[in-house]
Amino acid sequence: MEESSTDILVIGSGAAGSYAAMHAASLGARVSLVTKTKLLSGSTRWAQGGVAFPSDPNDIPSHLMDTIKAGRGLVDEHVSQTILNDALEQLNHLMEMGVHFDALPALEGGHSKPRVLHINGDESGLHLLTFLHSQLPAKVSSLENHFASQLISDGKAVGGAVFWKDGDPTRPVTIRARATIIATGGIGQVYSFTTNPEESTGDGIALAYRSGATVRDIELVQFHPTVLSNGGLISEACRGEGAVLLNKRGERFMKKYDPAGELAPRDVVSRSIYRETLDTGGVFLDLRPIRDLEHSFPTVYSSIVSLGLDPISEPVPIQPAAHFLMGGISTDEYGATSLANLYVAGEAASTGFHGANRLASNSLLEGLVMGSRAAGKAASSIPVAAGDCERYDTPGCAASYQTPIRELMSRYASVARDEDGLSTGFSEISTIPFAQACTSTEAETANLRLISLMILKGALERRESRGSHYRSDYPETNREAAHIQQQIKLEDSVTG
Ligand SMILES: Cc1cc2nc3c(=O)[nH]c(=O)nc-3n(C[C@H](O)[C@H](O)[C@H](O)COP(=O)(O)OP(=O)(O)OC[C@H]3O[C@@H](n4cnc5c(N)ncnc54)[C@H](O)[C@@H]3O)c2cc1C
Repeated sequence: MEESSTDILVIGSGAAGSYAAMHAASLGARVSLVTKTKLLSGSTRWAQGGVAFPSDPNDIPSHLMDTIKAGRGLVDEHVSQTILNDALEQLNHLMEMGVHFDALPALEGGHSKPRVLHINGDESGLHLLTFLHSQLPAKVSSLENHFASQLISDGKAVGGAVFWKDGDPTRPVTIRARATIIATGGIGQVYSFTTNPEESTGDGIALAYRSGATVRDIELVQFHPTVLSNGGLISEACRGEGAVLLNKRGERFMKKYDPAGELAPRDVVSRSIYRETLDTGGVFLDLRPIRDLEHSFPTVYSSIVSLGLDPISEPVPIQPAAHFLMGGISTDEYGATSLANLYVAGEAASTGFHGANRLASNSLLEGLVMGSRAAGKAASSIPVAAGDCERYDTPGCAASYQTPIRELMSRYASVARDEDGLSTGFSEISTIPFAQACTSTEAETANLRLISLMILKGALERRESRGSHYRSDYPETNREAAHIQQQIKLEDSVTG
């Protein structure tokens, strides 16, 4: 086995991981930044809208109120206040480094004023990430095509991770580290329809869970309402500019569900589209009210045209798709987990900032702030003797199970859920066999299986409707807002 050591190991090179790596290096640490594909990977690369920054210090209370309102009782007010307090410092830092944000902030769903900063129109994520990678200092050594298969952990502390070069378990690489930061992004690939890229298989969450870390509120998955059949997202900003939703009969319907119409919160719009699709056979977005669509929303326009559709002359078919995970590995306000020297930043974390429903463009903000904080804590962490894992076993399932997992999750655990469906999904996915993984695709499939079981279990336990989680058999919101935590029981045979 190839072995190396570093001060700080960062797994994942999206916004959270890259920013964390940069900060840790600026504090004098040697950093390894490792990704299973290319450096330019993950959801960050696809983010269109931008980053939500308070417009000035006086705007922090209002940004906080919007965040709390969207999160439906589950936002941690203290953590959110501290994230927003740090936001402007990070904005200044990015601008000093040379990031050029577009001049005018945009208004997005749920925000009471324009505060979303774009970088080069609707290609914000791509430009942000390319810029961060161009600034990585020499103290950061980056490794591409290294798949994290297991954390080095005795169940109490973490001392690095094992990777498979080119996804091949016969070429293992051990990287020992004083502190490890997981920044592996979300879980969208557990669903048939998702805006997330193929890397979003929940690997970091699965690895941390198997090592004993606490996972929280993983049943809280946000579905983006307006997604094309190729996974291309039609940004909320299009509805902000006048695009309207029509059912199969050509009727506008949103006002029937919410007085805000097309600009209602994401969960309301997704459920309304789901309902109208069942009732009338389909839903379409009419973008013709937007002037000069081709130039104002170039990514949206080209995504539609690539499907052979013409948004200038006809409404385009859309559906809700899995978009963002509010839950994840439970952390404190510095990204620390229940395991010593394991930190998490970005979408893989549950910090309490997003509650039960993320406010638009708050995720990149969280990734940047928490990336820098986790780096600060990791750089000053005291080395502990993390015992080795007892065995280097990585579970794997045959890749052919990916489609059935996605279909079951889309049928039973998407926009509308109920006890019968969730129980059926859980028992069917539990029966999928797993053994020692022979490829990284098999390991990813086992991760999809594990994440699906955790989502189903959490959704069964959450007997209420709250934010993005809608139970048709429990349509009311409980008076008490509660978190749902999950931690491995080592004897549990269905975890994989
Ligand atoms: C289409 C789209 C549009 C969006 N628009 C916005 C927006 O406008 N504003 C906003 O705030 N948010 C937006 N979001 C959400 C936001 O982009 C993500 O929440 C955020 O980018 C997540 O960043 P991250 O660094 O946590 O993870 P990611 O950017 O997803 O990066 C994850 C990294 O981990 C690596 N990785 C994963 N598993 C492994 C493994 N086993 N071993 C090694 N490496 C691994 C991946 O290769 C990748 O490098 C959007 C998301 C999508 C999909």
